[in-house]
Amino acid sequence: MNKENILEQLQNIVGKDFVSNRKEDLYIYSQDPGASLSRPVDFVILPKNTEEVQKIVIYANNEKIPIIPMGGGLTLSGLVIPVKGGIVMDMKRMNEIIEINETSRYALLGAGVTTGQLLSYLNKNYSQLQPPIPDSPPSATIAGNVLIHGSGYLSQKHGDHGSMINGLEVVLPNGDISKFGSCALSDYWFSRGPIPDFIGLFTSSFGTLGIITKLSLKLFPKPKFRDVVFGLLKEIDKIPKLLLEITSTGLAEDILLGMQDKPDWMKGYIFVMTYITGDIEEELSQNMKILKKVYRKANTRFMKPPDRMRELYLEKPIFAAGLADIRKGGGFEYVGAFMPLERVPEAYMKAAEISRKYNVPPTIGSRLMSGTHTIIVFFSYAFNRADPKDLENARNALHETNELALKLGGIPWKVELDGQQLVLKKMDPNYKKLLKSIKNLIDPNNIMNPGNWEVK
Ligand SMILES: Cc1cc2nc3c(=O)[nH]c(=O)nc-3n(C[C@H](O)[C@H](O)[C@H](O)COP(=O)(O)OP(=O)(O)OC[C@H]3O[C@@H](n4cnc5c(N)ncnc54)[C@H](O)[C@@H]3O)c2cc1C
Repeated sequence: MNKENILEQLQNIVGKDFVSNRKEDLYIYSQDPGASLSRPVDFVILPKNTEEVQKIVIYANNEKIPIIPMGGGLTLSGLVIPVKGGIVMDMKRMNEIIEINETSRYALLGAGVTTGQLLSYLNKNYSQLQPPIPDSPPSATIAGNVLIHGSGYLSQKHGDHGSMINGLEVVLPNGDISKFGSCALSDYWFSRGPIPDFIGLFTSSFGTLGIITKLSLKLFPKPKFRDVVFGLLKEIDKIPKLLLEITSTGLAEDILLGMQDKPDWMKGYIFVMTYITGDIEEELSQNMKILKKVYRKANTRFMKPPDRMRELYLEKPIFAAGLADIRKGGGFEYVGAFMPLERVPEAYMKAAEISRKYNVPPTIGSRLMSGTHTIIVFFSYAFNRADPKDLENARNALHETNELALKLGGIPWKVELDGQQLVLKKMDPNYKKLLKSIKNLIDPNNIMNPGNWEVK
């Protein structure tokens, strides 16, 4: 079928204003802000509801046209740039906040709801509740974030964002509209079980198994007061011990740490930020005192940040902000890796060597999740988008860092095509076999984000 026919069929589903194959519309969808090369897109489509998604999927499946679901397109690792052409399905118009259940504490959302939209809606209408959201720009979608095992300021206490999904509505490649979680048998989207938990199939599968049209997200009570305990640690190898001590107090809402060469006073140190909360101010100052003691015992220099910085840190901890554009030209990508805590000091030291080798100032950050059960480490590389050599430099650094994370027992997170192959190469063969069988069963025509996570 030729492109004009396809366009006409898609227009019949969503209307002329919400599908395009004009070069100027496709240009922006053929790239992302990271280091991946741009790749061609054939169509972009913006459905309004589940029924439209279903019609598009049935049509694409019949014609064997690839579909790439896209939220905010902010993962930086090329996951929404088509590998084999096809239709980018931009979920922006499906942005309905369907229900906020205050008692069972969940939000039922359309897949296009953004993190900024949900946050401001709750602040205005349910100020006692807070959502789990990442530190990414507010145009990132909740669906895009939870589906990739994202993390944020509530992850220390409550785990990664994939575990905050209570239920999903998914359009499968055969056009079935399937529900997963309690919503499969109840009017309440309050739980994933106790039935076989298939939600995990759709997390970190990067749009390769179906299109999520609705999701239920856990919400949490919002404490009245928040503060941050800031410290500098000289000895890298003390990181695990310090973090174990902090988490043993049970006081931390969020723990962030990192290494960066700018501003100058941070050079040579690991900065450690522990966020604490309370319902009365006395509780906060009491907790602050306890944590100061923990910091000092671990030889970590407690520092009171200037008010302006403290406010910034409380609003949104921005890792690497000072270094993100150090090469000029606006390129930035990072390897995020879930790591075992005991290998973090080595990861920091070896990743700093990779940075220096590629002439990028070391910029490494971490966030502790679920106590100390996982720590996510971000190894960031800035590059000049206008300079192909610099782009290649960044890609080489990312490749070596993925290899490093795997060597140290870590798991690279939301990896780009090259990193996916490194992960698949190391993966247990029977895990891979099952992955392939599930993909073949659910998406036999391989229309869903093909080229990503393909087991050869
Ligand atoms: C400055 C900056 C800071 C960041 N900080 C954080 C952070 O603190 N924590 C964090 O977790 N991440 C962070 N990120 C990474 C990323 O931006 C976020 O994880 C973001 O939430 C991803 O959401 P998105 O809507 O952009 O997803 P997209 O990039 O649009 O999609 C992500 C993946 O999910 C798939 N997908 C999207 N929607 C659907 C759907 N409806 N159905 C099926 N599949 C779908 C896509 O195909 C893709 O594979 C940061 C990024 C930047 C640029």
